[in-house]
Amino acid sequence: MRPFSYVRAADAGEAVALVSADPDTTYLAGGTTQLDLMKDGVLGPDRLVDITRLPLSGITHTGTTIRVGATTTMEELAADPVVIERLPFIREALLLGASTQLRNLATIGGNLLQRARCRYFRDPTVEACNKRNPGSGCAAITGFARMHAILGTSDHCIALHASDLAIPLAALDTVIHVQSMDGPRSIPLTEFYLPPGDTPHVENVLRHGELITAIEVPLPPEGARSHYLKVRDRVSYEFALTSAGAALVVEDGLIRHARVALGGVGTVPWRSWDAEDVLRDAPATGDTFQAAAEAALTGARTLPGTAFKVELAKRTLIRVLETIAGEQA
Ligand code: SF4
Repeated sequence: MRPFSYVRAADAGEAVALVSADPDTTYLAGGTTQLDLMKDGVLGPDRLVDITRLPLSGITHTGTTIRVGATTTMEELAADPVVIERLPFIREALLLGASTQLRNLATIGGNLLQRARCRYFRDPTVEACNKRNPGSGCAAITGFARMHAILGTSDHCIALHASDLAIPLAALDTVIHVQSMDGPRSIPLTEFYLPPGDTPHVENVLRHGELITAIEVPLPPEGARSHYLKVRDRVSYEFALTSAGAALVVEDGLIRHARVALGGVGTVPWRSWDAEDVLRDAPATGDTFQAAAEAALTGARTLPGTAFKVELAKRTLIRVLETIAGEQA
């Protein structure tokens, strides 16, 4: 492991100043992924600025949104009474996203910034990885691709976005609040992540030194039901092969409100506006759900190792929609 120095920031302004001043300095929060990557030699910062003691933790309810501080833990958010009552698919995504031990340490900001789970990205002995080593190629496209994306990919990278939590957050029009040397700004989560294109090493719109301070999650309409389903090779402590999160309002058999996002298939959290267009004002029937699933997977690009995901993702979404509609019947 490369030597590095460690400093604990006194306040958010000092943390932003320290990181902004040095391209080899970065933030440290829960560290549940970051320290693994440092031990494996994938990341090698010169200095870590610890933000865990800053007042960036906590959940505030406004009546129409919940505001979640960046260093709030996954477990704290999963236990929030408004999340349990109004946003059950966020709670499901959190509980399915990590073990209890990890949920008690991992932060919401860190969850959204977790790096690719691609085995080639995480193995520095592999030369060809455009995300870790820009311009070197992509070992996954010609190698073992199973836990990889089929939507939003490029000829330069097919790495999956691995966060479960980001799926319901994308469906809900969550906003990410950040602080920089120039002041605060707010970014819709659906515009926060960047598909790989020809620069897979640039994963989001954060500029160096910008600090996520909070996220703001709009509550769905009264009467909405939601569900998150994660399909994986084993039942715990595993990333998604496919997942889907949706929130619906069904009245008199018609879908009045629909939010849909997919996981396990996209290079970014995959909000499916196409599926929502199919669902909105349509009858809550199997034919509608099938059409929504077809729309959601339009444009999928597969390799032999990922071809199974197209049908699996459709079935995952259909199961989620059927489950919600069944609860509202
Ligand atoms: Fe690297 Fe992306 Fe290719 Fe994985 S899929 S080897 S992260 S470039």
